[in-house]
Amino acid sequence: MKNIILLIFVLAALSVTRAQTAPVDTSGLGRIKYEALNNPKAIKTLSYLCNVFGPRLMWSPEYNKAAVWIESSLKEWNIPDVYFEDINRKGKSWSLKKYHASVIEPYSMNLIVNPKCWSPGTQGTIKSEAVYFKASKTEEFEKYRGKLKGKIVLISDPIPQRMAMRPMVSRFNDDTLNALSNYTIPTKEEKLLAEEQEKKNNKLYVEYFSFFSKKVAFCKEEGAALILDAGARQYGTNIAWGNISAVMPNDIFDYLIKYAGDPDIPESLPQMVVSTEQYNTIIDMLSENIQVMIETNLEVEKNGAADGFNVIAEIPGTDLKDEIVMLGGHLDSYTSANGVVDNGTGVVACIEALRIIKSLGIQPRRTIRIALWGAEEEGLVGSKYHIDKHFKNGNEKLCAYFNMDFGVGRFRGIYAEENVRAASVFKDWISALNDEKFKTVCLSIVKNSDQESFYDAGLPGFAFIQDPLDYMRIYHTNMDYLDRVPQDDLNQNVYILSAFAWFAANMKTNLQ
Ligand SMILES: [Zn+2]
Repeated sequence: MKNIILLIFVLAALSVTRAQTAPVDTSGLGRIKYEALNNPKAIKTLSYLCNVFGPRLMWSPEYNKAAVWIESSLKEWNIPDVYFEDINRKGKSWSLKKYHASVIEPYSMNLIVNPKCWSPGTQGTIKSEAVYFKASKTEEFEKYRGKLKGKIVLISDPIPQRMAMRPMVSRFNDDTLNALSNYTIPTKEEKLLAEEQEKKNNKLYVEYFSFFSKKVAFCKEEGAALILDAGARQYGTNIAWGNISAVMPNDIFDYLIKYAGDPDIPESLPQMVVSTEQYNTIIDMLSENIQVMIETNLEVEKNGAADGFNVIAEIPGTDLKDEIVMLGGHLDSYTSANGVVDNGTGVVACIEALRIIKSLGIQPRRTIRIALWGAEEEGLVGSKYHIDKHFKNGNEKLCAYFNMDFGVGRFRGIYAEENVRAASVFKDWISALNDEKFKTVCLSIVKNSDQESFYDAGLPGFAFIQDPLDYMRIYHTNMDYLDRVPQDDLNQNVYILSAFAWFAANMKTNLQ
């Protein structure tokens, strides 16, 4: 008897939870799909954004020009509300004008170089000797006192090359997607352990990076002309983070990017990265006591401290217009290439979603807002500020936020950020889309982009599970160009992002 009562109880509970996920409004879906897949504008918008304006470093003239063009495009598509939102963080206005480097002795070798963001220039072309600053502790610096003046200093150790046996491009297979679907939320103890480990890792990182800042400080003191670093990838692909400051970092972000763009941090030495293969070659030559002469020039434009902003645009809702459905992707990028898969594709997918819904004349109940974030690379600055202004201290209610910033790989599902209720709703939306390649809901929290700002604020912010393709090889590198974008993936992602915005804007329930 007890079991029967218990069974009835469980069934009743189950029927209640399932009943609560309301039917999905698929009214506009067919037309959204047709517009996204049969009349796509994404690749055209992407190529103009990235190839005409180039890299969009935060606070740079290029970022501002790209934002103005986006604003005028959205207005051309009759998007009623488009505006720039100051992010309350000033930064250095900087852009690259010219740069090159070549070994000229003992033989000619044109170097694949990329300047670090916000690096000062070399004040014209310099020809100088290369010196390998080989030191693993500060006591070893003394060996180089008086030997670095006017020299081109190789600051890091050579990077041992390993054969890249993994495929250049990959897609998630069913095993991986099933594992994501079966992900279980860690226990409190497991989370505490993971946090402890993360703290330990951060401490080691900061110690490691602080040592490099000390090396830079020493080079500055000794009057070195330029610092070269290894590009950290293979086959001529370089990652160039921010210029290493001579000021000790408090965390990884300070070191990698924040200090470099901060107007209050003293200027450091000119710095560029060289392709790892060539960097290791120069070190080898120097270890054979061969004199290596390098000719180089780095010209930059600096316009002092500038304001930064997000680009915000929206289609107002009707009866639920005070509830906001947001789509977002950061607009800022690094400078070694044109910031296409990081994150031009995310920006364009948000723009397209808004254009499509507006062009169809379908009216959402809730307001649909896109945010093209500023200063994501500098620590999620734009999204954090928007949340404080609109949802923490403002009178707006966020219904849901969807982020795109893991490259252009096809959406295969969504991370539900441990939000069991949202996971259940997403399963309904996924069955409504009926797309065999988009079916995974994973309860995991995923960090390292603007959805994290929403999660940290206790707001329903989500990111999509995307096929990795070659993202990990390309993001932040000198190969982040349009050729890396498979159009079908981009158009499919535009369709799914638009559909999720539409579902959320009209749903009878909420995700919290
Ligand atoms: Zn990104």
